[in-house]
Amino acid sequence: MHINSNYQNISETYLFSEIAARVKRYQEENPDAKIIKMGIGDVTRPLCSAAVEALKKAADEMGTKEGFKGYGPEQGYDFLKSALASYYQKTSAVELQLDEIFVSDGAKSDIGNILDIFSNDNVIAVTDPVYPVYVDTNVMAGRKITYIPANKDNGFLPMPTEGFEADIIYLCSPNNPTGAAYTKDQLKVWVDYANSHDAVILFDSAYEAFVTDPKVPRSIYAVEGARTCAIEFCSFSKTAGFTGTRCGYTIVPNDLIREGVKLQKMWLRRQTTKFNGVSYPVQCAAAACLSKEGLEQIRANLEYYKYNADVMTSTFNELGWPYYGGTNSPYIWVKCPDNMSSWEFFDALLGKANVVGTPGEGFGKSGEGYLRLTSFNTHGNTMEAMRRIKEVFK
Ligand code: PLP
Repeated sequence: MHINSNYQNISETYLFSEIAARVKRYQEENPDAKIIKMGIGDVTRPLCSAAVEALKKAADEMGTKEGFKGYGPEQGYDFLKSALASYYQKTSAVELQLDEIFVSDGAKSDIGNILDIFSNDNVIAVTDPVYPVYVDTNVMAGRKITYIPANKDNGFLPMPTEGFEADIIYLCSPNNPTGAAYTKDQLKVWVDYANSHDAVILFDSAYEAFVTDPKVPRSIYAVEGARTCAIEFCSFSKTAGFTGTRCGYTIVPNDLIREGVKLQKMWLRRQTTKFNGVSYPVQCAAAACLSKEGLEQIRANLEYYKYNADVMTSTFNELGWPYYGGTNSPYIWVKCPDNMSSWEFFDALLGKANVVGTPGEGFGKSGEGYLRLTSFNTHGNTMEAMRRIKEVFK
């Protein structure tokens, strides 16, 4: 018996536990401090009423002899896949066939599971700073990882440089943690690289619904050539507040072929073997979010977060603090003032303004000197946090 020794190589995820420990210590020493948490990547607005009604209706259906449903199709019901195909049509002018859409319980699972269809000897490229799931899932399988530095010189949007070699490339746009978002022209360079090197892009579009700039694609398939090199992961988590309801989707185009094999067929085989689908009520709720009424309701929630992001970016403009994100993203990646390190600024912000952020260094070496703040708070808390920051740091 041997365990998977690669697990010994996964670095301890101390980031959020260290944040929690420092906040707890500070609160114990300062019991009257009203701490505002601006570091968490979870949404706070409740589910829209279209989703709630659909959940209730589906639950009622499941309680009747006629409406009861057992196992559904592993890759999702056609009603949801059709709704998603129309959504892609509407938001990105992208045409998808229904068998290219795979519904799941969220993007995180699919991002980890997709590795089943790739050999372990592939060279993996991730940007640094990075959403840690891309790294840890590969380390678990013993794969080699190349880090592409994202920094102020490339606007936190790294491009393939001379001599760059990778088989599988993770791109997340709009990005977590930096909030930076690739334009269509920039993504085209990555797509051309992947097609000419037989590489595959794993494109994470979890934050597509926050895009407002028409130059920034909401799907990689809006870029010519992406159908032959990219798999896209997306989710209702941030779009519709489904972080606790759980529904995501992955697109594997029929034109994506490597070593003579259709990756769509491999992923279908993987999913039908290891996954039994998302619950019927949750798929009904997800489809309801894509109805005319649902889209209006989720838009109102997205506008709520956008208002917060605007309050935050105008504060940083006033203070003259450089930042990324905030326009096409719920994340704002702030340069720490006075050349403070990420953790120094974290402590200063907590101690002087009672505001909690996430130190950028926790997302990778290139995140040092930055702090991630999110717009997922209430208007009241966001405005109060910014008022305190202005007062302390102006
Ligand atoms: N991808 C990115 C970049 C994320 O930030 C997150 C969640 O924070 C996910 C994927 C996970 O999404 P889901 O809730 O659908 O698993």
